[in-house]
Amino acid sequence: HGRLSEVDPEVAAAVDAELDRQRSTLEMIASENFAPQAVLEAQGSVLTNKYAEGYPGKRYYGGCENVDVVEQLAIDRAKALFGAAYVNVQPHSGAQANAAAMFALLSPGDTIMGLDLAHGGHLTHGMRINFSGKLYDVVPYHVGPDHRVDMDEVARLAREKRPRLIVAGWSAYPRRLDFARFREIADEVGAYLMVDMAHFAGLVAAGLYPDPLPHAHVVTTTTHKTLGGPRGGVVMSADETLAKKFDSAVFPGQQGGPLEHVIAGKAVLFKLAAEPAFAERQRRTVEGARILADRLSAEDCTRKGVRLVSGGTDVHLVLVDLRGSELDGRQAEDRLHRIGITVNRNAVPDDPRPPMVTSGLRIGTPALASRGFGAAEFTEVADVVAEALDPALDEAAAGALRTRVEKLAADFPLYPHTDGAP
Ligand code: PLP
Repeated sequence: HGRLSEVDPEVAAAVDAELDRQRSTLEMIASENFAPQAVLEAQGSVLTNKYAEGYPGKRYYGGCENVDVVEQLAIDRAKALFGAAYVNVQPHSGAQANAAAMFALLSPGDTIMGLDLAHGGHLTHGMRINFSGKLYDVVPYHVGPDHRVDMDEVARLAREKRPRLIVAGWSAYPRRLDFARFREIADEVGAYLMVDMAHFAGLVAAGLYPDPLPHAHVVTTTTHKTLGGPRGGVVMSADETLAKKFDSAVFPGQQGGPLEHVIAGKAVLFKLAAEPAFAERQRRTVEGARILADRLSAEDCTRKGVRLVSGGTDVHLVLVDLRGSELDGRQAEDRLHRIGITVNRNAVPDDPRPPMVTSGLRIGTPALASRGFGAAEFTEVADVVAEALDPALDEAAAGALRTRVEKLAADFPLYPHTDGAP
């Protein structure tokens, strides 16, 4: 039982190569971040060995006294951070959290409403071959011509289709949502309101995005996007009315043993998220996205057909609309990849191209903000992105952009004091 590098050099080499990749490139996938060293340590700990079916103080296994401490810390800290009365930190992922919330509130065949995947929604909000689309009767709502969620359509569809659940939340949408209006509509038709804040939970914690807790019957999130913690999910709500339903939907409804090593990482995350440095990082995240939006709206970009969905951003990402450009989403993603910037191609509303190609890019700033980027660095990286999206870019110019990317990466070392392992 030696170290990873001795036991399994092939896996160790891939992990090392991944650390090198993360260090030497600029991560701008909007759903990614860098977990702090303390979180990596918690996740790599012996807590992975423990079975703990049940909840703190009410387990189906012996020897849970230490994981009880960890899980209770995670729960209490999440409650304090988000002003929640009920928190479940056991969902293995965001998709699991959503499955549990729906499982608690719905019966198969019930009607749900969610933002159309092609307009920025998530798979778990009713995509056809996702569990949500298979189990429930899905009525998608959309963004209007201004690329804002069309709340009049939401109200009209809700009155017409009488859903049991309305999901508000998004994976690719650069603007704020009106949770009070969503709740009003839900109340009018007797529906539950679920807010999936996976993408913007970090902004909510920092007071930079509307707080869904006062309005929703249930709020779900991941812990690894803007929050920047371990990969995982959480279910919470502002009151305890539905607590029992949610708990039993997570376990035994959806899952067996909780991942207590990941829950330890969540506890560490929620502690760090209460510190001023966390809110300051979220502010740099949003500022960075705004800088990027401004740069991509400049004349040299618009002249080449680069536009922004909704014309700008309020959050940690921009959605680039390339329908007027010579580049499609895949070409633009490859272009940025070649100079060391990682993003994902993304459908834009009413995209004429198929999902494997698309006509858009989703570009996010959370990971670079975690790396330490401020206004000056975001200005530089925004300029690099803008120049890279010029269809006329030649090899020499691409090489110069790659050099600028390497300098930014070198100036902000990632995991500088470790080998990236716990
Ligand atoms: N909800 C939203 C809004 C998301 O964007 C995502 C992830 O992309 C998820 C849920 C699912 O999270 P996970 O990948 O942890 O299952």
